[in-house]
Amino acid sequence: MPKFIFITGGVLSGLGKGVVTASIAKLLQLCNLKVTCVKIDPYLNVDAGTMNPLVHGEVFVTEDGGETDMDIGTYERFLDQNLTLKHNITTGQIYFTVIQRERRGDYLGKCVQIIPHITDEVKSKIYTLANSNLDVIIIECGGTVGDIESLPFLEAFRQMRLELGSRNSLFIHVTLAPILEGVGEQKTKPTQHSVQELRRIGIQPDIIVVRCVEPLKRETKDKIALFTSVEWDCVISDHDVDNIYSVPLLMYEESILNPIGRKLDLSLDVGENLKKWEEISQTFTHAKEEVKIAMVGKYVKLTDSYVSVNHALLHASAYLGVKPKLNWIDSEKFETNSSELKLLDEYHGILIPGGFGKRGSEGKIIVANYARENKIPFLGLCFGFQLGIVSFARFVCNLKDANSTELDPDTPHPVIDLLPEQRNTKEMGATMRLGSHKIEIVKDTRAYKIYGKEEIYQRHRHRYELNPLYKDRLEAEGLIFSGFSDEGRRAEIFELKDHPFYMATQYHPEFISRPGKPEPIFLEFVKACLMGKNL
Ligand code: GLN
Repeated sequence: MPKFIFITGGVLSGLGKGVVTASIAKLLQLCNLKVTCVKIDPYLNVDAGTMNPLVHGEVFVTEDGGETDMDIGTYERFLDQNLTLKHNITTGQIYFTVIQRERRGDYLGKCVQIIPHITDEVKSKIYTLANSNLDVIIIECGGTVGDIESLPFLEAFRQMRLELGSRNSLFIHVTLAPILEGVGEQKTKPTQHSVQELRRIGIQPDIIVVRCVEPLKRETKDKIALFTSVEWDCVISDHDVDNIYSVPLLMYEESILNPIGRKLDLSLDVGENLKKWEEISQTFTHAKEEVKIAMVGKYVKLTDSYVSVNHALLHASAYLGVKPKLNWIDSEKFETNSSELKLLDEYHGILIPGGFGKRGSEGKIIVANYARENKIPFLGLCFGFQLGIVSFARFVCNLKDANSTELDPDTPHPVIDLLPEQRNTKEMGATMRLGSHKIEIVKDTRAYKIYGKEEIYQRHRHRYELNPLYKDRLEAEGLIFSGFSDEGRRAEIFELKDHPFYMATQYHPEFISRPGKPEPIFLEFVKACLMGKNL
């Protein structure tokens, strides 16, 4: 049985608990331990698939087709490990299972209650993930202590501590020490209150990780230790650093491994491994030269909506020794005023990411055409692939009003159409084409040069695809389809000749990009942007 680390959050949401969780996991992994992370989301949705990315951030797709919370993406990137849909537990899943069981009569005669039935199901889901190959499992509970929604989960954690004992379980609480303007003092009261709240439900934290703008002062640490009853070396300063990939190094410098090792009876030594991570992390810090990329989308107000795309560009750029400057542009502005397109000339590349629905789609179609005509490096992802095809159909093949049936069900030229197996589906949850699928790459294409092999596996999340009836017509005008899945039935990649870089993918390459191991098509895209820049 592995050791269990439970991570809770206090004071406010958005403190970067996911990064703290991933960073601690990374450090333990660097100590040659087998580690994994689990995210608990206390909302009633069964998964993140039906949630608006503008409010909740990106939906991260796992290999096995899970539509999960974006923290799962953070864990995957830090640990360089593929997680599964089971690593994201929600209240919705727990209640769903318990209620189905109740209907089957499994609890016959009993009153089904939050304690023990819901809490037992929480524990059982976590214990199932804690297989014997692991040394440590880290479970992060979303939300903030004091939320009604997270109570059953915290109660389950409390019980697990009793079952596992203090040598096998550890509680880490992440809080915030704000600095009052003018006074300049690091305030500890919010942390004190948040720990009191945790204790009220029977949990005494072992380690407190404190977010703050500047390093925690010695007296702040002492005060927090005293008032929250933890040892002095168990207060860890989690102050601002220039990139999230250096948080594991910060945690190391703050000596978090000492109390973790002591309390969990583990001998922890990062040895030479730390250097390797340091080298990767430095590529993010040292890059100075900028590559400017226009990100044309709809969910531009919350950049978390596309966090994996941002990171994939960051990984590729850091690998090439440069820094991406990403400007998010709402595509709707190009619909009303085409002179706005000139704005795009300032960029070294244009990226159209995934998306859904009509609003802003005409703008993206126009932008895809502008990038083609003006030879600006262009990368389209999923919806970007589909709208790139619409754009080519309209402007090159002269198929007037060509469209995706998602956007115009009555289009005379449905170049993008519903996947055949989607036609009878009415339900919205987990019904798209999801997860990893094999893609065969066509030889003698740019895609083949990029990937260097005939087969790749990539993750998907879509309901629409290229209508095969239009494939010949598009090809006749010069669009090259260079990757296919399902025995050639589905188009997965397109590219153009005589253009510095004009490519798009039906799949989402961003989900498998990792720091130090950029996804190849992102790498080539950024290279092309740099070539244009240096002309
Ligand atoms: N809306 C498109 C579809 O459902 C694209 C989805 C996406 O970009 N993830 O196929």
